[in-house]
Amino acid sequence: MPTPPPPSGQGARDGLAKGRRGRTRGQAMIPVRGVQGSRVAVLGLGRSGMSAARALRAGGAHVLAWDDNPAAREMAAEDGFEVADLTRQGAVEAVARLVVSPGIPHLYPAPNRVVAAALDAGIPVDNDVGLFFRSLATADWDGFDRPPRVIAVTGSNGKSTTAALIHHVLEEAGTPVQLAGNIGRGVLDIDPPGDGGVVVLELSSYQTELARALTPDVAVFTNLSPDHLDRHAGHGGYFAAKRRLFAEGGPDRAVVGVDEDEGLFLANQMAEGPGDDRVIRVSAGRKLDGPGWSVFARKGFLSEYRKARQIGSIDLRPIAGLPGAHNHQNACAAYAACRTLGLAPRVIARAFESFSGLPHRSQIVARAGGVTFVNDSKATNVDSARRALDAFPAVRWICGGLAKDGGLDALKPALHRVVKAYVIGREAAQFAMQLDRVETEVCTTMERAVARAAAEAEAGETVLLAPAAASFDQYDNFEMRGEDFIARVHEALGS
Ligand code: ADP
Repeated sequence: MPTPPPPSGQGARDGLAKGRRGRTRGQAMIPVRGVQGSRVAVLGLGRSGMSAARALRAGGAHVLAWDDNPAAREMAAEDGFEVADLTRQGAVEAVARLVVSPGIPHLYPAPNRVVAAALDAGIPVDNDVGLFFRSLATADWDGFDRPPRVIAVTGSNGKSTTAALIHHVLEEAGTPVQLAGNIGRGVLDIDPPGDGGVVVLELSSYQTELARALTPDVAVFTNLSPDHLDRHAGHGGYFAAKRRLFAEGGPDRAVVGVDEDEGLFLANQMAEGPGDDRVIRVSAGRKLDGPGWSVFARKGFLSEYRKARQIGSIDLRPIAGLPGAHNHQNACAAYAACRTLGLAPRVIARAFESFSGLPHRSQIVARAGGVTFVNDSKATNVDSARRALDAFPAVRWICGGLAKDGGLDALKPALHRVVKAYVIGREAAQFAMQLDRVETEVCTTMERAVARAAAEAEAGETVLLAPAAASFDQYDNFEMRGEDFIARVHEALGS
């Protein structure tokens, strides 16, 4: 039998492999409400698509499933779903609702043709996040002492780390908490939360832009830097997509990073005045000691101020799982979110100490001969790569991949950290040409880049993978790129 081609449809990018191991009938999920007996189409059968399909089925909907990738369709059929070609003329017009996966363009650079047909016919388009928010609350909640709460985290960078850190702190504090969204499980794959339960969601701009319901109790905005510009027709569209989490949802509390103009604007819009503590302002560098509520980090120390008085402080420098100023920003955002739930500063501080960080984000994978090897494969955009470079003094930098719109100019302030760049990716030569201020070597493959960097690195230096680009030219996802880096490091070190 010939080997099947690698998955290339929407399901592949949205985590087809995860979908295959995904939840099946009978396992915990949030059944979708208000769809009993209706025909709902699901476009894109990766992790979130399959989870939406199952939750819709559990809610009594008749699901029609489609993905351009035959392997994904086969998986849905195996799971008992009717596979229906939604690209056929008239197919979408016959459904009550269309649920779309985040990897599928719904507006820019142009709507996918199935989405376009739904828009044309006035069929409501939604995603798993919208279904989640409309389905979460149940009649059982009337009997609860403390209704469940949802904390939703968005922003350009630090969402996963912040969401995972909030989850970790709440877990350590003994709160029943679940983590879902872009990290962990699909939003509809969680257990229905019980009395006092908390759900922490990581939400991307693709998700917040399309969801028809967005009602978290606490909304967190980490920061904003250019990314996904093609999907949002530029930076303004990107910010508008993220802002929906606050504008549509009307959260009780908003935790907002104010180190960019967009964050300042958002905080301003959410608050009735400087002293309104519905907004907690967060900064990774600026002292915020005004009349409102704020959490900021300076020189490695986190401080909380409320009504111009200091309430708490934490020395973040010894916390191994949170290296660098960017992680101190995440720590401030997570701290603020936990404070909104009433946790004491010292409880949060204690939990921070046992946070081990996430793989592929400033992850130390080896130390040899005074050289540290760090995997930050998740640095898929320029800002995150700049922050990663800033966290280490002398860097042998492995970078490159599928470059994003906007160029590499924003990296300039951190390039003095680079001893030499080892460029990977199919377009490595072009990428290297943009790095005119540093010594570069076009390596193309990870194998060569790691071998060369390891051979040339001197004691005190860091070999850092922080690509400033997406991985799809050479890998299925950033995780596989990071795993490859780790394997090549061990190969080079003979460990
Ligand atoms: P996201 O889920 O928003 O992509 P992650 O926590 O997965 O965020 O981190 C993504 C990348 O951004 C990693 O390279 C990480 O080192 C870097 N990063 C993490 N937190 C921040 C931050 N607050 N500001 C800038 N970059 C960050």
